[in-house]
Amino acid sequence: MEKVDTVIIGAGIIGLSCAAKLAEENTSIVVIEENASFGQETSSRNSEVIHAGLYYRPGSLKLTCCVRGKELLYQLCKKNRIPYRKTGKLIIAADRAEEAKIEDIFQNVIQCGITTLRYLSRKEISSYAPDVNARTALFSPESGIIDSHSYMQFLYQTALDRGVVFSFSTEVVRIRKESSGYTVTVKEPQGTEFAFQAEKIINCGGLHSDNIASLAGIDIERNHYKIHYCKGQYFRLGNPQKYSIARLIYPPATGVSLGIHITPDMAGGLRVGPDSYYCREIDYTVDIGQKQRFYEEIKKFLPEVTIAELIGDTAGIRPKLQAEHEDFRDFVIKEESDQGFPGFINLIGIESPGLTAALAIAEKILDMS
Ligand SMILES: Cc1cc2nc3c(=O)[nH]c(=O)nc-3n(C[C@H](O)[C@H](O)[C@H](O)COP(=O)(O)OP(=O)(O)OC[C@H]3O[C@@H](n4cnc5c(N)ncnc54)[C@H](O)[C@@H]3O)c2cc1C
Repeated sequence: MEKVDTVIIGAGIIGLSCAAKLAEENTSIVVIEENASFGQETSSRNSEVIHAGLYYRPGSLKLTCCVRGKELLYQLCKKNRIPYRKTGKLIIAADRAEEAKIEDIFQNVIQCGITTLRYLSRKEISSYAPDVNARTALFSPESGIIDSHSYMQFLYQTALDRGVVFSFSTEVVRIRKESSGYTVTVKEPQGTEFAFQAEKIINCGGLHSDNIASLAGIDIERNHYKIHYCKGQYFRLGNPQKYSIARLIYPPATGVSLGIHITPDMAGGLRVGPDSYYCREIDYTVDIGQKQRFYEEIKKFLPEVTIAELIGDTAGIRPKLQAEHEDFRDFVIKEESDQGFPGFINLIGIESPGLTAALAIAEKILDMS
């Protein structure tokens, strides 16, 4: 039977960044991906925002990986000409109730040790976002946007150059623990199965990461590893040139999402969304019937918008550990020796800010493996 040192399951941004990083150490690495190419799921269905870490609990992995990941990501983009823009971001309050919410965000950010967030004066609000209606606004100069496809393409090419082997259109269907390492069985495009041995497994399976842990025999109920799907849909403004919006514009976050925001993209467009609701199936269609609701949300802070400008765009699904109505859950990034699975590393619940945090997460995985 063929043998490799490390198998990485999943070629989203997390699998790609782990592959590129681990390959620095010159081990034999195979990435198994069930789609025909990399980055076809959550990693290409998001806001493409480089987050500054404003919403997470002090000391959490979400916070530390976001802050470190953002630094690494800006360096990577600059050095390798990956398209990005440090746009800055406004978190705006349209009324009194929202003012209280953004003050909560401000206090949390102070506790997290982030010193760059500040309140804008009225004059600054109208010069930073002239078309936006806000009573009060916070400004995060460190937030930005990135072309996520170029980011993934760069990591994919880096991993290839360092000798990583990618097997696309191949699904991991069984994992058996052996006295040393694991036997991994995959299903190939023609339906044939093929088994090989791996010393280490890194589970970067995104929306299926709980199932992958379970394939190996890890009890996902007892460990609270069950993933809950939480969908986010986007619309696009049909005539972005009508507005002078160069920065990210966010309402205050809710418990499960960052709120329907306006995101400029690298192509000069303006995206609106995502919304947020729990669902059972992975279905990326956008419900055009939601247009009115999106319009009402956006109109609160973009008074000139008309409903006719909204065009259905894309949708993504958050792989949440937090069930509906539950409180904050952190990323799970864990080597499972204590459960009898040495060399098996789980990355579960890697929702936002996973795109920002990916390079920092890969550093952690290199330390663990
Ligand atoms: C609506 C939305 C907005 C977001 N906005 C942002 C943002 O602006 N900024 C930010 O930092 N983060 C954002 N995120 C979060 C970010 O997109 C994710 O954290 C990140 O993409 C997760 O990457 P991943 O590699 O873990 O998952 P994925 O990209 O889903 O990759 C997992 C891969 O595993 C493969 N796979 C699964 N099971 C198997 C199997 N059995 N065999 C083989 N392959 C398998 C899948 O095919 C998939 O390609 C957002 C997420 C959503 C949903």
